[in-house]
Amino acid sequence: MYIVMIASECAPVSKVGGLADVVYGLSRELETRGHLVEMILPKYDCMRYDQIWGLHIAYQDLWVPWEQGAIHCSVWFGSVHGRNCFFIEPHSEENFFKRDNYYGYPDDAMRFAFFSKASLEFMQLANKHPDILHCHDWQTGLVPVMLYEMYQNLHHTRVCYTIHNFKYQGITGTHILSATQLNRPEYYYHSERLQDNVHPTALNFMKGGIVYSNHVTTVSPKHAWEALHTEQGHALGDTLHIHQNKFSGVLNGLDYEVWNPEIDPLIPHHYNIESLENKYGNKEALRDRLLLRKEFKPIIAYVGRLDVQKGVHLIRHGLFYSLQKGAQFILLGSSPESSINQEFWHLKQELNDNEDCHLEIGFDEELAHLIYAGADMIIMPSMYEPCGLAQLIALRYGTVPIVRAVGGLVDTIFDRDFSNKAITARNGYVFHEPDYTGIESAMQRAIGLWFSYPEQFRKLVIQAMQYNYSWHRSGQYYLDIYEHIRNK
Ligand code: ADP
Repeated sequence: MYIVMIASECAPVSKVGGLADVVYGLSRELETRGHLVEMILPKYDCMRYDQIWGLHIAYQDLWVPWEQGAIHCSVWFGSVHGRNCFFIEPHSEENFFKRDNYYGYPDDAMRFAFFSKASLEFMQLANKHPDILHCHDWQTGLVPVMLYEMYQNLHHTRVCYTIHNFKYQGITGTHILSATQLNRPEYYYHSERLQDNVHPTALNFMKGGIVYSNHVTTVSPKHAWEALHTEQGHALGDTLHIHQNKFSGVLNGLDYEVWNPEIDPLIPHHYNIESLENKYGNKEALRDRLLLRKEFKPIIAYVGRLDVQKGVHLIRHGLFYSLQKGAQFILLGSSPESSINQEFWHLKQELNDNEDCHLEIGFDEELAHLIYAGADMIIMPSMYEPCGLAQLIALRYGTVPIVRAVGGLVDTIFDRDFSNKAITARNGYVFHEPDYTGIESAMQRAIGLWFSYPEQFRKLVIQAMQYNYSWHRSGQYYLDIYEHIRNK
């Protein structure tokens, strides 16, 4: 099968969160199975160019119809760890992708509407007729809309649309219709097309993606249910209900080549279940790097975006609770919201002299690997979590996840003390209520086991490592979906 992924992120070249990992990992799995996969990505100034091999201009003259004229683009080609990637570079005074960050600009809707249109124009220019277009999140929600409404010659292509986060939907105004030349506001401002379900004067990219795609997925079965039946659909629940025959949840996989403690080049000591004692070499290395004191204490960590979604108030509480219970705590994260960033900068200053604690505010792929390898436990007290990758990485590295029972965390983590799973199939700690008592109830049990029953804790670590959440199974689910829609 010939598959083209259109996305705003791809690990490790342009990564903000799990979306990037999924786009890369799924593509690799599909290629390993013998399918042809190509990616179309924006050419951001802030990408990691050191992660692209053989970058060169593949198409000099792509002209994308836009507003009353057209924008000239170059299309670059390069290999990102073996993946074939096309990068779209517009040459216009808006400088859509010549920015310091990936997202967070007032014209984000315009930027990604342009990228969506440019991707389709590029496919037309390069005579690409994939069986499947796989689009991701609001940034590419307009791709299926434009494919159906404007690019009749690409009609044979079927679209799978994956929603990684319902919170960000690309809600915007009429100007998008004129810019993209979709025009016809009376047609698109319709409850069965792009009209936002809450603000009738707004257009919603993600809704367009749902309405116009041949199949829609979100990233775990539990979250598919939550999106349909709870406020977690962020007002798209009704649209999903109408389209529920083409909506399903497919659990994300993890790239087991990238995340593999046996060969990970970013950690000093390699290990597996048989050589678990080597994990403790990484714990020492982590302490050395972050100047933590070397004492008989567990390290508890948080790695991830500092977003309300992630339960920032509980992360903060988890930090103090860890210290109170005699554990050490490491945080690696950052937030696009300056108020949250500032809060954690203050906390960092406050705890500067504490040798049991380190806060690293920023994005650091290398340090993330060392933390997963060196920590004993991670916390994920999310308010909502479509899938979550951090807990899957933690399992792989024998780092016990302490999670809130929400979204993909429910599908992947099973409480050591209270679960329907067989005792030998339990792999972490789970709490339910998003409050201090909730997180304490789980952390207390985890820390208690580490101090008082080290052999039992070690057993839990082994059970965690025995889980397999590689792309193997999820890749097959996506192929089944592709086959299904291709034959329609
Ligand atoms: P989300 O997609 O909501 O951000 P996930 O748990 O699905 O959360 O995926 C987050 C991914 O991004 C993981 O691979 C995690 O290790 C990585 N990550 C998040 N924040 C950072 C950071 N500050 N530094 C390094 N890696 C990070």
